[in-house]
Amino acid sequence: MTTLGQLSFWYADIGLPQSRRAPLPGDSEADVAIIGAGYTGLWAAWYLKQLDPGLRVTLVEKHFAGYGASGRNGGWLSGGFSWNHQRYAETSSPEAVRALVRAMSGTVDEVIAVAEEQGIDADIRRGDELMVATNDAQHERLKTETEHRVHWGEEGRVFAIGADETRARIRIPGARGAMVVTGTARIQPAKLVRGLAEAVERAGAVIHEETEVNGIAPGMLTTNRGCLRAPVILRCTEGFTATLPGLRREWLPMNSAQIVTEPLSPEIWAQIGWDGHEILGDFDHTYCYCQRTREGRITVGARGVPYKFGSRLDRDGTPDAETVRRLIAILHRHFPAARGARIDHAWCGVLGVPRDWCATVGLGADGIGWAGGYVGTGVSTANLAGRTLADLALGRQTDLTALPWVNRRPRAWEPEPLRWLGVRAMYRLYGLADRAEAAGGPPSRLAAWGNRLTGRG
Ligand SMILES: Cc1cc2nc3c(=O)[nH]c(=O)nc-3n(C[C@H](O)[C@H](O)[C@H](O)COP(=O)(O)OP(=O)(O)OC[C@H]3O[C@@H](n4cnc5c(N)ncnc54)[C@H](O)[C@@H]3O)c2cc1C
Repeated sequence: MTTLGQLSFWYADIGLPQSRRAPLPGDSEADVAIIGAGYTGLWAAWYLKQLDPGLRVTLVEKHFAGYGASGRNGGWLSGGFSWNHQRYAETSSPEAVRALVRAMSGTVDEVIAVAEEQGIDADIRRGDELMVATNDAQHERLKTETEHRVHWGEEGRVFAIGADETRARIRIPGARGAMVVTGTARIQPAKLVRGLAEAVERAGAVIHEETEVNGIAPGMLTTNRGCLRAPVILRCTEGFTATLPGLRREWLPMNSAQIVTEPLSPEIWAQIGWDGHEILGDFDHTYCYCQRTREGRITVGARGVPYKFGSRLDRDGTPDAETVRRLIAILHRHFPAARGARIDHAWCGVLGVPRDWCATVGLGADGIGWAGGYVGTGVSTANLAGRTLADLALGRQTDLTALPWVNRRPRAWEPEPLRWLGVRAMYRLYGLADRAEAAGGPPSRLAAWGNRLTGRG
């Protein structure tokens, strides 16, 4: 039997929290109020307390710490920069974008250092990221992407390997080659977010759970438990931002879903290889992301139904049957040796996508700050965002606050039904492009049209 939803397999692994932290005890005050206790809010709180231990930092969380994407993701701690470098360069300079790339890649060591120092066991395993191309068109894309990333400052970290070298690492049918990104790591997401919440509390910040923010004004949050006054308010709600008043069109809640197999036998692993436990993806336009877990399971993630009309969210991570079917098809295509494996769990969640597909962090003159729109790379980006939010909140001008993603304000998404039609058409075109390329066709132009439709490319 496949378990559906219940937030994620990661919580089935460690158990959902048995109790909740106390909600906001009525009207209260803080120096910094943070909305949302996922990685972004928790990292912001962590660095605020490191910089100023006396600061009163209060987090208010609708459900429990780690309820959102931070407890459901694919566990890629990639230090990667999947956004549009050129767009950042247009409002800064190529050198500033390279500084952002360097800061991003530094997040992997930073997250691991804090986890080690705080005794957080999150099944962290350092290794490479491996992005495999399985047809000629994908192979073209692999070369372009590798050159692109080297151009933007990842020389020495990102390189391409051929079919034989790829096969020596992992046996994926039809693999023509792979892009290797060094200095990445695999994590168990829910273990990280739970451990981080405990570390933040030890540092002296306060987390109130079952406290839903329903109004944000300068200096004051309104919640279902009372008002929280604070001169600085940080909005750290990524994929949920559309549910906040006045922010429906800020970031599109993009859905992503995953499945996990039962632990595979040594015989199956001998057929697959994957001894380096790389975080693994492919060059499909509707790409997948996989990991080999602590217990020798395979997780496979992909978009599924990418976006629900009116920015509707999933119910506690329950995916639809068609999405699960598609994920199983990817598993069987890339890992035929695992065809007979039981699927133990399937789940989904939302991440935030800004209109220009470029992540942002910032603080307005009204004292209201934000971070998110990480477009699927939030495990590492949230750490950089948290450090940056802490500097901004304390009025510090640092190398981080000078990076070109700070205080960007992309325009809002279109109203419905245009938003829904655009994203749906984009993924339709991606699917058609993938099918044409898998049939041996050249790099398809359909995907580029899809990107143009939603402002992605
Ligand atoms: C299925 C999936 C797979 C992914 N895989 C990867 C990956 O492998 N690598 C990677 O880098 N990124 C990945 N991501 C993206 C990454 O997980 C997110 O970008 C990141 O976790 C965002 O962290 P956050 O703290 O900003 O948001 P979240 O973790 O979503 O936290 C937001 C919090 O705000 C709370 N909240 C919402 N509304 C309110 C309210 N009104 N009042 C109070 N609290 C509220 C929510 O309950 C939630 O706890 C994935 C995302 C998904 C969904």
